[in-house]
Parts: sequence; C-alpha cells; structure tokens
Amino acid sequence: MEKITVNQARQKARSWRSKGENWHFHVLFPDCAFNTAHNQFALVLENQTVGHTFVVYNNNGFAKISQELLKMRYGENILNAAQVSMTRTEKSPKPILERCETLVRDSIPWHHHLLFPACIFNSHPGKWNLVLESGEASQTMNELYDEEPLDDLQQLEIAYFKEIDPTF
Ligand SMILES: [Zn+2]
Ligand SMILES: [Zn+2]
Repeated sequence: MEKITVNQARQKARSWRSKGENWHFHVLFPDCAFNTAHNQFALVLENQTVGHTFVVYNNNGFAKISQELLKMRYGENILNAAQVSMTRTEKSPKPILERCETLVRDSIPWHHHLLFPACIFNSHPGKWNLVLESGEASQTMNELYDEEPLDDLQQLEIAYFKEIDPTF
C-alpha cells in the first residue's frame, strides 16, 4: 500500500470517478480487524482498474473525507435519511440490519465495511460482503450478496453517522 495524504486521496477519488474506474475505500479504526496500524486510523483506497491500493494514516479519524468519498462513490443521496425510511418498509430487514439496531439500542460500539468481490480484505472473494464488527472478533458478522447491497449499505451508513455525530 502506498502512503498518501487526505488531499491526495480526495484528488485520486475525483480522478478515478471522472474516468469511470472501479474504485472503493475503507475507513479503518485503530481497533478494526483489518487495520494493521493498531494505534492509528487508516483510510484505504483501492483502485481495481489499475490494481493499486493507497492508504492515509492519522490520529483523528476521517469523518469528513469519508462522507465526501461516500457521495463520490455512491452519489449525493447515499446519506439521505428520508430515502431510507421509504426503502426500509419494502421488505423484512436482513439479520445484519437487525443486529445493527440491537447494537445501537444497547449502546455497543460497532462499525461496518462493504467488501467488494475483489477487495483485498474480503475473505469471501467473488461475493459482496457486508461486515459488521462489534466488540470481540467472534461477534463479527458477514452478510454475503451476489449483487452490490446498496439499500442495506445505505441503512448502515446512516445509522453509523447518526452514532458518531448526533447532529447528522
Ligand atoms: Zn473494521
Ligand atoms: Zn476493499
């Protein structure tokens, strides 16, 4: 992984998006199972079109840039809570979403990752893998999909930002 700065990450994502390249990113907290820098936050950007992975490390997290990158990757509406309440009534929630609700209700810290089929962190290559981490590694939940689970991801993203920022 090549080390870069937050500004370089933003520029790369913009450029990849405009070229239509296949890219995604992860925010890794110090206690995240995927983070090899255990005392720092890591922002990992993967470009599968050119096969490059980049990383930014810092001590404060990436709340602002992660919202920017989410919108670049998924569009402006990804963090639109009104849209979620509409999709949510359509079908019964997946176990991973029910687990998320339980964690929120019980005030247990959690976070999630969407692992793309070819993601370097994906232990189920070929599948879309939503990972929910909370507490011990044994509590980690994987929900596997054949298609990109945009609705479920959106519900987790909004629940997540509500948790870390009450004014969100
Ligand atoms: Zn994690
Ligand atoms: Zn990845």
